[in-house]
Amino acid sequence: MRSASRIFLGGVVLPLTEPGARAEALAVSEGRILAIGSAEEVLRLRTPNTEIVDLTGRALLPGFIDAHMHLVSHGLREIGYYLDLSEAGSREEALERVREGVRDRGPGEWVLGRGWDESRWPEKRYITRGDLDGIAPENPVALVRVDGHILVANTQALERIPLEAAPEEFDAPTGLLRERAAWAFLAQLRPSSQEVEEAIVAAQKRAHALGITAVHDVVHAEHIRAYLRLYKQGKLTLRVRLNVPVEHLDALVELGLGTGFGDDRLQLGAVKIFADGSIGARNAALSEPYADEPSSQGKLNYPQEELDRLVKKAHEAGFQLMIHAIGDRAIDAALTALERAGVTPEDRARIEHFELPTEQHLERAARLGVVASMQPNFVQWSGPGSMYEKRLGPERDRRMDPHRWVLERGIPLAFGSDGMPFGPLYGIRCVEKAPHGPQRLTIEEALRAYTWGGAYAGFQERELGTLEPGKRADLVVLSEDPTEPPQRIQSLEVHGLSVEGRQVHP
Ligand SMILES: [Zn+2]
Repeated sequence: MRSASRIFLGGVVLPLTEPGARAEALAVSEGRILAIGSAEEVLRLRTPNTEIVDLTGRALLPGFIDAHMHLVSHGLREIGYYLDLSEAGSREEALERVREGVRDRGPGEWVLGRGWDESRWPEKRYITRGDLDGIAPENPVALVRVDGHILVANTQALERIPLEAAPEEFDAPTGLLRERAAWAFLAQLRPSSQEVEEAIVAAQKRAHALGITAVHDVVHAEHIRAYLRLYKQGKLTLRVRLNVPVEHLDALVELGLGTGFGDDRLQLGAVKIFADGSIGARNAALSEPYADEPSSQGKLNYPQEELDRLVKKAHEAGFQLMIHAIGDRAIDAALTALERAGVTPEDRARIEHFELPTEQHLERAARLGVVASMQPNFVQWSGPGSMYEKRLGPERDRRMDPHRWVLERGIPLAFGSDGMPFGPLYGIRCVEKAPHGPQRLTIEEALRAYTWGGAYAGFQERELGTLEPGKRADLVVLSEDPTEPPQRIQSLEVHGLSVEGRQVHP
């Protein structure tokens, strides 16, 4: 019989295998879970070398898996490459951060920021080129909105970066760039490889402090290089799934690579395709016009035939699909492309965000075995007086982010934060008290979507996602049992974290 290297007891163990499941103790051996059960049973595996960890009444859970994250971009904020504008409560506050950024840098130096969200400000309007010219006449400034689909640049910035953008993607008077125009602009301002590496290390530290043991990242080529360098140096303590933009599909197919390449620490994930934009930027593709802009129904990023072709190509080459689709028209296009490609439930095709599915979309998604990769924190923009309600009207707002309907249809649900903000507990708090019924989940359901859901979405549910003998010992200690009573979720804290049985936080 194997002996335990560590035994956790003295608190509650939530394996998240089925509703209400509880245990008293858990034993770890060689990076895997050796046993889980009553303290008496588990203590039989104790030897003189076993470390006993007293949970002192705290709760032990499977480590969280953030199934949709942009880790490098978060890390670049942590290291100061981007100004963090996510906490700004008004336009004036955001501009004040920019003023500080300008002061900290020399004249002519770039000032980059991320995370502004005008929907949370009293006057609810975007930052404009004019605002930025007023406070930074001599520095190029570019600020990315919280959703990553809009960027505002000042005159200095626009003069330095040559732009070839379609008129609907660039509005010169306001300095607003959308979608591909915004990404092409940012692509010319790439951080150095050293900065990317530092960003990953900083973001990884933050991830562990938030209870996260694995992320499904959406990466650029230079991110993969940095991950590999850290991995080889033994500095990658987080499990990372590398989801790659469709722009690289041809190269990947040529090399014969496919989903699952790598190991359980660093692994190639899905091919990511953007079917539409975001509600905040009014470029999520809707079947009916925006309530606050009746001339617009948003925009599909690809004609259907092109989306079909890309999905089919990735699917036939052995890639899992990851399609960003927020509006009902984009969800329809994504489902159609998956159906035409002959995707089956074994393929676990993912639709990211899946915010406004109709009844019929839910049925089709269930039939295809689509994984709904959703963000519980997005309900922060729903409800009376909210940004979603303003953009969509109350009827559609009530149908946004229907996590409950997804679970009821038996659609696998994986939760991620998309970095808005980073961290599972914030999102779980959001869905526990969401404004609309279909958005609400129990704490335990939400925890499961943030653990088992991500493991399933990454084909790793045999190794990760619940606490069961034989699985990897990816463990998080929370200050208290998060499910009893449910209000407790509001004050929960992360007290410790192990990946593969090895403590990496604190
Ligand atoms: Zn995203």
